[in-house]
Amino acid sequence: MSVSQQSVCNDRDCPFHGSLRIRGSILEGVVVRSRADKMVVVEREYLHYIPKYMRYERRRSRIHAHNPPCINAKVGDRVKIAECRPISKTISFVVIERREG
Ligand SMILES: [Zn+2]
Repeated sequence: MSVSQQSVCNDRDCPFHGSLRIRGSILEGVVVRSRADKMVVVEREYLHYIPKYMRYERRRSRIHAHNPPCINAKVGDRVKIAECRPISKTISFVVIERREG
């Protein structure tokens, strides 16, 4: 008997196929690095208001996120990441949506 699904996601830390629960904030950013297995670095740009000059400055932050095999985000992808329990020392976010380009 053949398996009907082409690729089965058996990642324990997948919010859709594993037991990982997401909670807290949901952010959007761009994948800038993906060297380690099943993890990506997401860069987020936001505006920070400076009252003295009544202007905004651009700030950016990099967040390490878990990248489940069923999403498989690549460098340059726009992704949505959701907060979850700490998966490792630096990872407490997981990629939940991918938009190429
Ligand atoms: Zn999955």
